[in-house]
Amino acid sequence: MSRLSETFEIGGLTVAALSDGAPDRALGGFFHGVDAADWTQALGITDAEQPVPFNFGTFLIRGDGHTTLVDTGLGAAGAAMDVPGGGELLARLEEQGVAPGEVDTIVHTHLHGDHCGWNVSGEDGGHLTFPNATIHLSQAELDHWFQPGLGGTDRALAARRAIVPPQAEGHVETFDGEHAVTDALTMVPTPGHTPGHCSVLLTSQGQHLVILGDAGHHPVHLEHHDWIPGVDLDPAESTRSRGKIAALAADRDAIVTGGHFPILTLGKVRRVEGGYRWEGL
Ligand SMILES: [Zn+2]
Repeated sequence: MSRLSETFEIGGLTVAALSDGAPDRALGGFFHGVDAADWTQALGITDAEQPVPFNFGTFLIRGDGHTTLVDTGLGAAGAAMDVPGGGELLARLEEQGVAPGEVDTIVHTHLHGDHCGWNVSGEDGGHLTFPNATIHLSQAELDHWFQPGLGGTDRALAARRAIVPPQAEGHVETFDGEHAVTDALTMVPTPGHTPGHCSVLLTSQGQHLVILGDAGHHPVHLEHHDWIPGVDLDPAESTRSRGKIAALAADRDAIVTGGHFPILTLGKVRRVEGGYRWEGL
């Protein structure tokens, strides 16, 4: 079974990878149109249907005067999934000694339901789980999920459920383009998975961490930028974004991780002839 939490340091920051659900899953859906023989070999498995460790992850960042969450997991819906750690984010936070009211900053890579689930809780979904947090996300992401044309799709409803109550309390702030939320944390646009998707760049004492969001669901996506997750709304743009974030990570010698990588998956991205190589740490 995958681990549900693990803590590591980036410069003067303490980063805790916290799961809100860690099932084993067959990953074929993340390699749209790729020959199964190619992607299974890259993952080190032989059977495309073989479940491998997967994660619905968030990251808690402390040490810069803030208590920050990168994404908020599946939420209460995670408990109904009957997977290890499903819907247990608040217990993972408690293990870190953090009460919900202490979280002052939330950043969203995007507004899919597995990344904003704990924004709200309670019977009617109207309770702010993190009542003292300001929620930061890109204006493009907000605009996408609130456009009238999306109407009642499950994904649009999940995004709106998570954002409308905190917005009504004045707790949501949006930004355009690359944006420094704190001295240590910058949102870097990596659109394609969704129109306003961002990855997170953390910097402290000359060390860097890139949290991909869903610009990569598995480390092999940093080597094969055109291996398209079926859920990406704009495959050409998400391919360009994987190239952009791989280049940024390589240039800065950044440690890289992702919320859907099993805990604790850290690596670096190296330039090699004709592309990039993932080097696990
Ligand atoms: Zn996701």
